[in-house]
Amino acid sequence: MRTKLLHDTEEDIALAAALLQKGEIVAFPTETVYGLGADARQEDAVHAIFAAKGRPADNPLIVHIASADMLPEIAADVPEIAWKLAQVFFPGPLTMVLPKRPDIPYVTSGGLDTVGIRMPSHPTANALLKAAGCPVAAPSANRSGRPSPTTAAHVMADMDGRIAAVLDGGACEGGVESTVICFDDPETIHILRPGLVSAEMLAPYAGKVYVDRAVYSQLSPEAKVASPGMKYRHYAPHAKILPVDAPDFASFSAWVTTHAQTGDYVLLFDSDPVIENIPTMRYGDDGRTQAHLLFRRFRELDEAGAHTVYVRMPEQTGTSLSVYNRLMRAAGFEVITL
Ligand code: AMP
Ligand code: MG
Repeated sequence: MRTKLLHDTEEDIALAAALLQKGEIVAFPTETVYGLGADARQEDAVHAIFAAKGRPADNPLIVHIASADMLPEIAADVPEIAWKLAQVFFPGPLTMVLPKRPDIPYVTSGGLDTVGIRMPSHPTANALLKAAGCPVAAPSANRSGRPSPTTAAHVMADMDGRIAAVLDGGACEGGVESTVICFDDPETIHILRPGLVSAEMLAPYAGKVYVDRAVYSQLSPEAKVASPGMKYRHYAPHAKILPVDAPDFASFSAWVTTHAQTGDYVLLFDSDPVIENIPTMRYGDDGRTQAHLLFRRFRELDEAGAHTVYVRMPEQTGTSLSVYNRLMRAAGFEVITL
């Protein structure tokens, strides 16, 4: 199969929409990362997503919709709190897990009776969803286990020859995948995966907000998890990622200077001073910038042929929690604590 590279024009969006309607797979930009889309109601098309990614069948896909009005077309029940959150956070990087309607096939929901739903804010994604006129199931457009793609070139690197088309909409602003939540009860928000919609931002709209423990620590493969995606190794470049939890820059610098071998890199904050003689990349100072750059840096580190990458630890609050979580998962939760 030749993968078409489409552009952000009305004509190409119409072409991409027609491909989706025909049951083909099209990668498209969103405000988080690039997604690998197929009509969520066409079983064969959704199966083809799993095949293209090499994704385990029990890892559910998120269904993307063009407007909040479509929630009842996908979810069997939309509680009051979900409507309230949709009003505030749609369109945007928030996925809500709700009971699925019977016409959403189990292949889309990874065999679950629930389905993750979100409305992306990227204008190209929105135009594509409107033109296609169907709900679009889309995981991140990387090969399973690899860092999520934030440019069309990243998608091509992983998917060329495996899908019908890539719609190029430039670099994604957000850089990490959406926040995934479910509701334990009508007042409780349970964060399954942190994203740029933080616990702090959700707090005013719920009695209680809490973060699943799988965000902070490795689960055993047998563990029963609320979100199947959390048990898989994820987001990893070929280089070995090793976060170093140091009380300050001086101790980080001293430790890596004595431990780094030829071919190793450091991934620093922008405000960190220079470390002599160790190849360096940087990924910003605040959560939003770090989210925007993390996966891009992972791919650049692979292109540079990095062996081990010693990484400065992001914060664990606000939007930074999403960066911390992706970094820890890329590292398989192995960390150097000084
Ligand atoms: P990706 O599409 O690669 O960003 O992954 C989607 C994420 O959403 C995975 O981590 C899934 O586990 C999670 N997710 C999607 N649907 C559900 C669901 N019905 N229940 C729990 N988690 C879900
Ligand atoms: Mg993914």
